[in-house]
Amino acid sequence: MSAPRPPHLPTTLDCITCGLCIPTCPTWQQTGRESQSPRGRVHLMRAHQEQRLPLDAVYAQEMEDCLVCRRCESVCPAGVSFGALMETTREELVQAGYRAKPSMRWLLAQVRHRKRLHWGMGLLGWAQRSGLVRHMGTLAQAMPAVPPSSEREPLPDFAGAHSPRVGEVWLLEGCVMPELYGRVNRAAMRLLQRVGYDVRVPKPRLCCGALHAHAGEGDVARNLVRGWVQLLEDVGAPDAIVSTSAGCGAHLAELPRILASDPDLARRAEALSNLVIDASAFLARRENLERLRPLLNPLPEAWLPLAYDDPCHLCHGQQVRVQPRELLDAIPGVHRVELLEAEACCGSAGLHSFAHPEAARTQLASKLVDLEQSGAATLVTANPGCHMQWETGQRTSTAPRPVRHLMEVLAASLG
Ligand code: SF4
Ligand code: SF4
Repeated sequence: MSAPRPPHLPTTLDCITCGLCIPTCPTWQQTGRESQSPRGRVHLMRAHQEQRLPLDAVYAQEMEDCLVCRRCESVCPAGVSFGALMETTREELVQAGYRAKPSMRWLLAQVRHRKRLHWGMGLLGWAQRSGLVRHMGTLAQAMPAVPPSSEREPLPDFAGAHSPRVGEVWLLEGCVMPELYGRVNRAAMRLLQRVGYDVRVPKPRLCCGALHAHAGEGDVARNLVRGWVQLLEDVGAPDAIVSTSAGCGAHLAELPRILASDPDLARRAEALSNLVIDASAFLARRENLERLRPLLNPLPEAWLPLAYDDPCHLCHGQQVRVQPRELLDAIPGVHRVELLEAEACCGSAGLHSFAHPEAARTQLASKLVDLEQSGAATLVTANPGCHMQWETGQRTSTAPRPVRHLMEVLAASLG
């Protein structure tokens, strides 16, 4: 049953039409059209809410093209919550019948069933290794290489702290991360243990619903959140719920807003939101960094210099910018360089790179130039979608560089 949507007209009225957001927007950069800019989209939303504009295919397309990267939010002096507006708008579009392409809906359906996703990725890996993938659809061909099953082993339910123990955390393993980058979650688990935390991966292993909310499938996203809220109430709260995926972390940290249409669930979800924190922000807390710093050793010389690229849902969604850099700078002998446009979207953006491959490639091209000019030997990220997108770029590069998650780099430094 659909929950009523919260009205978003008051939020669109916050826009003072200053236009500061426009040059930061990737779709405006590619098209130069006002209707493909944040200001343009906010005013289309307002016109629709005021019943001056019909909800038709043209309106749907302008909204669908948005990456929901939320870079516009970071520069907006009026505090327009663009991500929230866009999720509400997309939900409205889905309810009016403007749904994502069937292939994207199929992908979303797999992602929320962890076992189904695990089997599906196993089959895809087999098709990739045997070459059969060439005869499959474009979606299967666009998927990244599935790692061997050893990489896709589920995490243990519990891993004990190295002494002295200081507390207990849950590790939010995500849905894509365990299938494509299982080593990242294992690295995070090891780091958390080493700084003194018992690490629990609670069962059932649930999807957080971030991709579904992003695509306008609000009912599915709210049902998944209900599962998380129940899990927390049944098992009891840890000291923190640590995420290695920027998208999942941003979604769960904003639940009271996302659930505004269901006040009872929003109230129960507040405890969950308050506990969710990105792994970088958690490890960079003063007391944790003090315990981590003496454990770190120099990285292999060939990895340096490192360049950290900010995932949109970490910098724009969670305001986490300094902490990943602080952690990298804590590694002895590290050499780190900055990308010129580290906060620009790489084009991954939820399912955007699958739904709009051409636009995503154009978006990535300028990031690849940025990386090239930085002189970095390793690209460091903190989100599985960005990880995939950067690796796609490296496959066609004349000077490919390794792409590593921040947790992998730190765990490598543990020795
Ligand atoms: S979220 Fe990103 S793509 Fe969408 S309007 Fe804002 S800056 Fe542009
Ligand atoms: S920066 Fe904010 S207030 Fe200014 S035009 Fe963009 S959305 Fe409106």
